[in-house]
Amino acid sequence: MKKQRLIILGAGESGVGTALLAIAKGYDVFVSDKGKIKDKYKEVLIREGIEWEEGQHTESKILNANVVMKSPGIPDKVNLVQMLLQNKIPVISEIEFASKYTDATLVGITGSNGKTTTASLTHHILRQELNVGLAGNIGDSFARQVMEDDFENYVLEISSFQLDGIRDFKPKIAIITNITPDHLDRYDYKFENYVDSKFRIALNQTKEDYLIYDADDEVITQWLKSHDIQSTLLPFSLKENIENGAYLDNENIKITIDNNQITMPTKNLALEGKHNIKNAMAASTVSHLLKIRKQTIRESLENFHGVEHRLEQVLKINKVQYVNDSKATNVNATYYALESMDAPTVWIVGGTDKGNDYTELFSFVNEKVKAIICLGMDNEKLIENFGNMVDVIVETQFMKEAVKIAYKIAEAGDNVLLSPACASFDLFENYEDRGRQFKDAVRNL
Ligand code: ADP
Repeated sequence: MKKQRLIILGAGESGVGTALLAIAKGYDVFVSDKGKIKDKYKEVLIREGIEWEEGQHTESKILNANVVMKSPGIPDKVNLVQMLLQNKIPVISEIEFASKYTDATLVGITGSNGKTTTASLTHHILRQELNVGLAGNIGDSFARQVMEDDFENYVLEISSFQLDGIRDFKPKIAIITNITPDHLDRYDYKFENYVDSKFRIALNQTKEDYLIYDADDEVITQWLKSHDIQSTLLPFSLKENIENGAYLDNENIKITIDNNQITMPTKNLALEGKHNIKNAMAASTVSHLLKIRKQTIRESLENFHGVEHRLEQVLKINKVQYVNDSKATNVNATYYALESMDAPTVWIVGGTDKGNDYTELFSFVNEKVKAIICLGMDNEKLIENFGNMVDVIVETQFMKEAVKIAYKIAEAGDNVLLSPACASFDLFENYEDRGRQFKDAVRNL
């Protein structure tokens, strides 16, 4: 029988992982990347004898595909993808491809904010008692892990771009953490398209499968009201009592599934902030569903200290707490950062604005922020929005200087918070680079 031809567009983590899995499954594989392929990935392709090209897409080698795996970074609107679709060649994502080759229980986590935190926390709890991998947008790709590790369970962090490329992907348990506007450039600037994309996580679920979601998020509840969905619903809420799912009863998280309840005091959570109570509810609901012992769930929540660049406590200097929230690349993430500040705050903000509407931050800024340090190429919009709200607002384009100014302004008991609400690409390589520069500058004070 002639081998199926799988073309992989984009030789990053998901592309190379897919190539490895596909070769093992007997496909004829060709990897094509329009940019330059990182050396570490080139080495793998060469070592495995997988055919590849970079700096171009050779159409004659691509349009003869049986199936195409497209990296989540490549938009549908590029010519080549349009040509493939016109030729009725299926264009799928890595999670779609890899999930065909595992019988593992899949926990899929999507949402606008909180994916990495919730996925890491869920993995942290499950791994105490189960054989479980953590994949998707974190660490090694899902495809590579299916090929090399073959776990019995996977926690997958899934972006909307990965969801756009699914057909049969069906997680046993899905989570939608929240939905706020993001990445609209990839969705024809229509929020509803982005919302639909997030809900694809439940597309193939049946009533034997579970959808865990934030019942306080109106975008989610409105969508559910107007669409049919098969999944068994397990909402979580900070505001209302939930019969099946998770809610807050005074200072306790209560989770009920089929009359089996678990209770956890929120004061014992290692992670701070209301958003993290939600993340803990979602992760614990998964754990409760998968029959992790109650004591194990409680202990794991007490000793999970979070992920780098997400409200990360860096250092205390002269009784001033420095907090790195570089991953806050949109307003909603910064909203929760400011909400969780329990002292006067010097706020470092700015970068590449993605069409931000800052109004929801106003009350926190009035209440808690004593000074603003704008760290971006263009800070005009920040100054327009917040100029009247604080006594001090300054601009810089250097992290070191931003931290020095913050150090001068902050007094004992204050916080210095880097939570930019913007992307990092104007002044930094990426949000990790921005967060690391912040931490280095703090350590050098
Ligand atoms: P993602 O992987 O979806 O980008 P992260 O866990 O990396 O999410 O967090 C991104 C930013 O959002 C961080 O600033 C973090 O503090 C904040 N955040 C985390 N969880 C939530 C949540 N449930 N709601 C809103 N913001 C959140």
